[in-house]
Amino acid sequence: MRKILVAGNWKMHGSRAETASLVEGLTAALGDAPVSEVAVCPPFVYLVDAAAALEGSEIRLGAQDLAVEPSGAYTGEIAGTMLRDVGCHFVIVGHSERRSLYGETDGVVAAKYRAAQRDGLVPILCVGETLEEREREVTEAVIERQLRAVLDSAAIASFERAVVAYEPVWAIGTGRTASPEQAQEVHGFIRGILAADDDTIADSVRILYGGSVKPSNAGDLFSMPDVDGGLVGGASLDAGGFAEICRAGG
Ligand code: PEP
Repeated sequence: MRKILVAGNWKMHGSRAETASLVEGLTAALGDAPVSEVAVCPPFVYLVDAAAALEGSEIRLGAQDLAVEPSGAYTGEIAGTMLRDVGCHFVIVGHSERRSLYGETDGVVAAKYRAAQRDGLVPILCVGETLEEREREVTEAVIERQLRAVLDSAAIASFERAVVAYEPVWAIGTGRTASPEQAQEVHGFIRGILAADDDTIADSVRILYGGSVKPSNAGDLFSMPDVDGGLVGGASLDAGGFAEICRAGG
């Protein structure tokens, strides 16, 4: 049985004080033993504070991006080893905002996925189609291409230490959520691609849904057989609401 994972992507929001009160509010709302596995991904500069505030809690820490290189003359970049050093367990790779705004290709995403594992982090690999691609009915081809780039570069065994997030671009930050059936269809497709390489690994990998998850729709989404939790943006910035989403997975 796959345990539901709910990860909050705080993007470039908040301040030091707001991060502190969000972590405090979340730990208070969830208690000592959250029913789902829970992770929060604050901006880089607040990771150290968040790690300290999360000490003794079961909530895990994640980062929103990492460098491909392990160290060196790469001004402005943050290495996976540094993220481990400050207490990160997860790192998001291939978020659609990184792909579309910062030109991250499938090749770069695959390199970041491998870098994350090399550096001892669990990548949350995001895949998803744009609205235009959905309307052209090429959703499956897009997802398969994005996934294949990673499978060709890192092999199926790597998915024992990875999480996949299906994030339809048209649903991210738009308030427009995929229906549970739409999500299930793509999640089942993703699991099928992985199963073609290894049934057992495909069955154990967690596939999160992301795109306007909120307290009112989380339960229905998480009840689908291949939806193993959520990657939550906007709604994770409210401690009470995010805690409700986490409880929807219990
Ligand atoms: C995200 O940031 O990955 C996301 C899914 O955002 P939102 O929940 O706001 O749509």
